[in-house]
Order: sequence, then C-alpha cells, then structure tokens
Amino acid sequence: MKIEIRLRIDAGDGEACDEEVLVLDKPHDRLEQIGLSLDEAKDLLGRVQERIVGAQAGAYAAEHRHCGACDASLRRKGKTVIRFRTPFGDVPVASPRLHRCACDAATTRTFSPLADLFHEHVAPEMLYLETKWASLVSFGVTVDPLKDVLPVGATLNAETVRHHLHRVAARAEAELGEEQFTFIESSPYQRARLPLPEGPVVVGVDGGYVRAREPDREGRQTHFEVMIGKSMAEDRGDRYFGLVQSFDRKPKRRLHEVLRDQGFQMNQEITFLTDGGDSVRNIAVDMSPCADHVLDWFHITMRLTVMGQYVKGLAHNREAEAAEIERTLKRIKGFLWNGNTREALICARDLEDDLDEIETDYSGMKAFRKNAAEFHVYITRNAHTIPNYAERHRYGERVSTAFVESTVNTVVGKRFAKRQQMRWSKRGAHFMLQTRTRALDGTLQGKFEQWYPGLAVATSDQKLEAGPMAA
Ligand SMILES: [Zn+2]
Repeated sequence: MKIEIRLRIDAGDGEACDEEVLVLDKPHDRLEQIGLSLDEAKDLLGRVQERIVGAQAGAYAAEHRHCGACDASLRRKGKTVIRFRTPFGDVPVASPRLHRCACDAATTRTFSPLADLFHEHVAPEMLYLETKWASLVSFGVTVDPLKDVLPVGATLNAETVRHHLHRVAARAEAELGEEQFTFIESSPYQRARLPLPEGPVVVGVDGGYVRAREPDREGRQTHFEVMIGKSMAEDRGDRYFGLVQSFDRKPKRRLHEVLRDQGFQMNQEITFLTDGGDSVRNIAVDMSPCADHVLDWFHITMRLTVMGQYVKGLAHNREAEAAEIERTLKRIKGFLWNGNTREALICARDLEDDLDEIETDYSGMKAFRKNAAEFHVYITRNAHTIPNYAERHRYGERVSTAFVESTVNTVVGKRFAKRQQMRWSKRGAHFMLQTRTRALDGTLQGKFEQWYPGLAVATSDQKLEAGPMAA
C-alpha cells in the first residue's frame, strides 16, 4: 500500500505551500506492519517539525525585513544557522543577517532579526521534558526513553540534560528574592484587618545526607547535609522544598515563597514540626507571628527505641537492673507524651545515674551511657518546644514528622541513590533538589507556564479547536 503524506502550510501571505513530506510503502498482511512504526513516526515528526519551524521562522524574518522607523527595505549580509533543539528533532534554522538602516543610530552595523525570536536555542517543552524526567530518574536514564519515542537530536546525552536542568534551577534561583532575618512584615493592627484565613498550615522539616563527590583530605568518602521539608495547607495542596545547607544562602526566603504560593497569611495558624536541630529550627524562626514550634514526637521515640535496644542487650547479664531501667524509659516516655518535661528530665537524670552505677561486661554499656546523656541534653535544649502531645493527638493535630521522614526518603532516597554509588557536588545536589521538589509536588509545569505563557495558552487553544473539527 502506498501512503503519501503531504503538508499544507498557509502562512497567510497568499502563498500556501503544499508538499510531499513522506511516502511509505507498507504491506498489510502482518500484525507488526499495521500502522506507523516508531521509526516511521519519528521520521515523519522530524520532517514535519523542520518544515513548520522553517515556515514560522521565515514568516518572522519576513516581518522584520524593513526598517522599523522609515520602512526602508534592509539589505542582506549573508546568514547564520541557528540549531533549535525541539522534542521533534534539532532543526537548523537559516537566520538572515541584515544591514541596519541608515536612519538607525545603533552601534552595530548588522543584526539578525531571528536572534530575538530564538533567544534560547532549546524549545521550552524540550527543556521541560528533560528537566521533569531528570528530576525523577537519572540523567542517563532520562535520555533513553526520549530517544526511543521521539526524534530528539542524536547528540542528546546525560551531560546535556544535566546542563539544561541546571539552567532551569539557576533561573528559578535567580527569581528568589533577598534573604531576610524575619518575614513578619505586618503589624498586629494590619494583621487584625486581614481576611479570615483558611485552615492551619503544618510544616515538617528534617535533614538527610547526600554522598559528596569530593573525598576529604585523607581520601575518605564524605557526606553533606540536605534539609527537606513538606508544607501542608488544607485545600491548597502539599508543597515540598529542599536545600543544601552549606550551599544555600536563602533558606528562609525559600520557605517563605513556598508558603506564599500556598496563600499563607500572617494571621494564619502555622505549626513547625522539627527534630530540634539548630539549622532546621532556624529556618522556621520569625516566619510568622502565629507560629507554633513543636519538637516532633517521632524523633523522641526514635531515641527511646534505640535505648530500648541497649536494655535488651543489658538484660542478658543484668536482668534485674535492665527491668528497672526499662521501667524508667517507659516513665520518661509517658511524661513526655503528656508534656511534663519537668518530671521527664528528673527521670532522665535518674537514668544517667543508674546506668553509671551498673557494673557489667555488657559491650554496649558505654554507648548506652552516651545515648542516655545525649537524650538528657536533647530534652533540656528542646523543652520549650515540647507540647502536651497526648492533648494535641486527641484534638487531631499532628505530633510527628514521620510524614517528613518519608518525604526525605521520597525526595532524597531514590534520585540521590542511596544504594548506587552516586556522588554529588553541593551545587548539583541543591539544583537537583529545586527541580525535583517541583517535579514531585506538581508545580514544575506551572513554573514553565509562568516563564513561557504561550505554553499554557497553546494547550487550551488546541483543545478548543479539536471540538468542531472532530464533529
Ligand atoms: Zn530607516
């Protein structure tokens, strides 16, 4: 069967172009021959794209061939070629170079009108595809499926994709306003006049580690810390944010922008759940006058669970003492759950003393004592952020950042490859966190539509036109 595919382009200047794009000779007696093959489809798309881009660029160039001031026709002085990278192939675009008009006082004598149109050489949708997929899977894995189903340029590789993702992240970073010590900008009087806010916002922040690309001076493998957060606003959806602490200069601004996107108001209730670490807690300080800072219950129980493991070890050779210690741990947990830090701290001190007095060969004893001492310090330092968890729990309020713990795993775990030997520069990891958090919470597309308003318009226009044509 002979199949001829023709393309008709009417540029509106009275001269429609109508030409053969592809001729296929397809048999029809085997299943695998029915319909277009992937190769044929890629070939077709590539050819069509080349002609469409050529026609659009030609129309734009034609509209800019005259002097804007006196309408004199401008003389040509050769041409250059722009390589425009699209999901449907790298398209070479002939870009004419023109002499400036005599009436034009510009410093340069020639210019290329198409340089204005092609101010970037990657199609926004291509940039979006690359960024989105590289945020979810590795740079290398991103390339393969794109090449399988689309006629993308043969030169597309992991390095290009990384480069493009960094460009996107850097652009978003450049839009971020200045860092501020406090983001409480309104007076109590102004806040009283704000409209009634929506439900409370809960923000959980926690840390994680990423393997560093550079080893330390002794050649040992090192890690650096990342901070991951999730902001949950009723009816406004969840947002993720992430940053590399030793790289980022604007952590508070970053959080502030996420809250602003969620429509957060200065008179709105907000709860910050953190593990009590300095950097994690500092990001939330002075973010809102109505903020409630809560030490997250999950991290308290993790420490108690670790000590519980030591008790089990101790029980092998000091059964009675171990049973007594276990009771103390239970009492500490009970006091803390009810927000009674005074009694909890007395018990924590007793625990330390009891552990010091026990004589045993148990090999974990030294570590156990260290854990108990650290726990005492931890509770002392964070006492002011320990609420009555039992009461909060009864009222259906969150007491734990276990949801953030899973967020850290979601955001960091897979892409930053805990198991694979993947290593990161601080800048690379920070940039990846910016695009990955957006790819995960679904705001990456919105960012592109903000940068390229035509992306959103094009999608809805096409839907409108499909209606009458289908009918
Ligand atoms: Zn002129």
